Amino acid sequence: MDTSPLAPGLYIVATPIGNLGDMTRRATDTLGRCDLVACEDTRVTGKLLNLLGLHKPMRRYDDHASDGAREALLAEMAIKAVALVSDAGTPLISDPGYKLVREARARGVTVTSLPGASAVVTALSMAGLPTDRFLFAGFLPNKEKARGDVLTELSGVPATLAFYETGPRLVASLEAIAERLPRREVAVARELTKLHEECRTGSAAELATYYSAQPPKGEIVLLIAPPGESEAPDDDVIDAELRAALTEMSTSQAAGKVAKAHGLDRKALYARAMALKQ
Ligand code: SAM
Repeated sequence: MDTSPLAPGLYIVATPIGNLGDMTRRATDTLGRCDLVACEDTRVTGKLLNLLGLHKPMRRYDDHASDGAREALLAEMAIKAVALVSDAGTPLISDPGYKLVREARARGVTVTSLPGASAVVTALSMAGLPTDRFLFAGFLPNKEKARGDVLTELSGVPATLAFYETGPRLVASLEAIAERLPRREVAVARELTKLHEECRTGSAAELATYYSAQPPKGEIVLLIAPPGESEAPDDDVIDAELRAALTEMSTSQAAGKVAKAHGLDRKALYARAMALKQ
């Protein structure tokens, strides 16, 4: 292993999402040669460094850190090699680092990214859903209404939709998908790269029934196939969305919102909304 010091700068280092074998040689090398490791949780990263047989100074960092703490780290990058890692996977992907990278680049600091594991790409490459276009949207909101609004907003996007999910929330999310996107194929990719890895596909309703009976443990990526060529949403789904929208906005706005979400004709939906109002 190369043990020479690294040039000053910021090194974005991906770490495994559950299987230590996915730590790349270059990532290990960089953690061994850097001067400082910035991380979300020093206990989690401390364990990883121990497993790799490395001893490095660590500094807790996330995007909620004070401006002063970020400034201090940025100042160090001018003279030291600073590695940024998250608890697992690729930093900045639903993890801290965006503000740090943006600021570092603005100041002319050299930013190097070391690719490695990321749950979203791992799930996409094994699920058998289209991968030519995908839209990663992080975690769905916790609250029912906000979650429904996001699904409606994204329902017309011609791409596989990818979300991060947790066991306790999975069934509620699947039920929300079943209500709004009943005909889409869905994949639940769970415990990726770990002993109990599974990837189960079906309609959202089928998967909700399955996981209600066996509450899922562990970490999850949820994928939703793009709208099919001939897929038109059920009339009652459209009516339910129009009714919900009419409680918050004018008829014209409600028709526009639902038409945009499903790629449907706005005038036809306006007429339908008027009929629903009577
Ligand atoms: N930065 C990470 C990445 O690149 O994948 C993601 C961090 S995000 C805070 C954590 C979420 O990623 C989990 O709630 C889960 O949705 C997903 N995730 C992480 N590891 C996973 C795994 N082994 N299997 C399935 N999903 C995983």
